[in-house]
Amino acid sequence: MQTYDYIVVGAGSAGAAVANRLSADPKNQVLLLEAGRASHPWSAIPIGMARLIANPAANWLYSAEPEASTNGRRIPVPRGKLLGGSSSINGMVFVRGQAQDFDTWAQMGNRGWSYAEVLPFFKRMESYAGAGDDALRGRDGPLRVTNPEPRDPLFATIIEAAAQIGIRHNPDYNGASQEGIAMSQATIAAGRRMSTARCYLDPIRKRRNLHIATEALTLGLVLDGMHCTGVRYSVAGEVREAGAAREVVVSAGTFNSPQLLELSGIGQPERLRNLGIEVRHALPGVGENLRDHYVPRTRWSIGKKGITFNDRGRGLGLVHQATRYALFRQGMLAMAGAPIRAFVCSREGLEAPDLMLGWIPMLTEPSPRGPRISRQSGVTLYAHPMRPESKGRVHITAADPRRAPAINFNLLSSPPDAELTVRAVRIARAIMTAPAMAHFQVSEVVPGADLTTDNEILDWVKKAAETTYHPVGTCKMGSDPMAVVDAQLRVHGIAGLRVADASIMPTLTSGNTNAPSIMIGEKAADMVLNAAS
Ligand SMILES: Cc1cc2nc3c(=O)[nH]c(=O)nc-3n(C[C@H](O)[C@H](O)[C@H](O)COP(=O)(O)OP(=O)(O)OC[C@H]3O[C@@H](n4cnc5c(N)ncnc54)[C@H](O)[C@@H]3O)c2cc1C
Repeated sequence: MQTYDYIVVGAGSAGAAVANRLSADPKNQVLLLEAGRASHPWSAIPIGMARLIANPAANWLYSAEPEASTNGRRIPVPRGKLLGGSSSINGMVFVRGQAQDFDTWAQMGNRGWSYAEVLPFFKRMESYAGAGDDALRGRDGPLRVTNPEPRDPLFATIIEAAAQIGIRHNPDYNGASQEGIAMSQATIAAGRRMSTARCYLDPIRKRRNLHIATEALTLGLVLDGMHCTGVRYSVAGEVREAGAAREVVVSAGTFNSPQLLELSGIGQPERLRNLGIEVRHALPGVGENLRDHYVPRTRWSIGKKGITFNDRGRGLGLVHQATRYALFRQGMLAMAGAPIRAFVCSREGLEAPDLMLGWIPMLTEPSPRGPRISRQSGVTLYAHPMRPESKGRVHITAADPRRAPAINFNLLSSPPDAELTVRAVRIARAIMTAPAMAHFQVSEVVPGADLTTDNEILDWVKKAAETTYHPVGTCKMGSDPMAVVDAQLRVHGIAGLRVADASIMPTLTSGNTNAPSIMIGEKAADMVLNAAS
């Protein structure tokens, strides 16, 4: 058995950052275990997201259990399964969230997590190329973040339409205030995806003290009493054990981190016993508090020719786009998943926005290989509450690490979530029917202008919506009985074990979750190193 100082399980958004910072000191021997492969050719190219969202070579391809809020559908739950984790397959939109999100975590009793205290980590992780306040933005971190100009007539018109209903243009929503409409800041630079594999791992491949094992599925934690001393993992069918002289950091993501704890006997005793797993430590919060953004996607046809990326992405247009990308790394192939977004208040008097809207400049339609560009020309506009209160759960259903866990989102179970979702759809309609949009000959395709009452809209949401793939919260940080980790991300009751990824978020942040997940990895590494010094 090989022994390292630190073992990091999962090389995703958070785990890659943890491994990078821990191995910066050549004295620390670090093992980074990743279940997926080292890379996938589509991951480097932004448009490749469409080829990864349903691709078993780079994706866990989970699906949620049927429930009333999804009209009995099993909605897809994609998760990255390769170096970089979900940052290698995601939409590349970069949103930190609001200061209030982190201040709320601190007010829940989590010392060290106020906005003022997480800001240095947000700054140190990024090299932000756009205009912004240097007191708030980082300029020399590993993660390259860009901020495109709204030069395209479609984007400029959407911004104008939003202004007509009172939503201002705010170019840096990751700065002092989130409110307004803007081009999406993106983890894209020189036309390439900036995953954490690319930004945190590629530059340090030569470190001799960092050992990266891919296609290495961690099967369980090795516990000596109440002390985690290592992990068991499988490579090419061979089961191996590795020891951790100092700590194991689990960064396997919102579904697989609680899965690993449960497989190791840490969780709800009754549930574990029923599966024949020896209970090593009772921790009822493991797998609970699952939150995600449940998102209706409204679809709009656009009659004016040449405006949308449906028109520009077919036939000669596609040849032009491909050439543009090959020569200049620009255009449609180099774009974030939803390149323009708005953060708005559902009603007057709110201190900060509670809804997010994101535009995809084309109509897409489902296909067995993932969404494909539609023949009809138009835009897709999703709209949703940013801080939903509905909570679900994820749990293992067998003592088998290869069996997918059961995901129950319990979406819309909190009445305000349903009310805010309807409000978000109404705001989407108000922007798309504002005077500035008229010359594009816009008409509502889905849900359809004939659905007008709250109930009609909600019924459609249940039939059609999916999440935006932002699950968090299943190893919640806190000190209440349902908390799994403390404010230092140490698993309650077990020495030598931390969890550091999106699963520790007690609540959803206001926006997309890649940036806060990487911040968590950065902060966790500091905590681990401080504990050792
Ligand atoms: C399709 C999609 C689109 C998204 N779009 C955006 C976006 O545009 N902007 C944004 O901010 N966020 C987006 N997100 C969300 C964001 O990417 C995630 O919140 C973030 O990446 C989560 O980071 P994490 O470290 O918690 O988990 P992950 O990045 O998912 O990392 C977990 C890693 O652990 C590995 N792993 C799991 N189990 C094991 C095991 N047993 N052994 C070894 N390794 C294991 C996984 O393979 C994976 O590499 C999107 C997500 C998806 C899936």
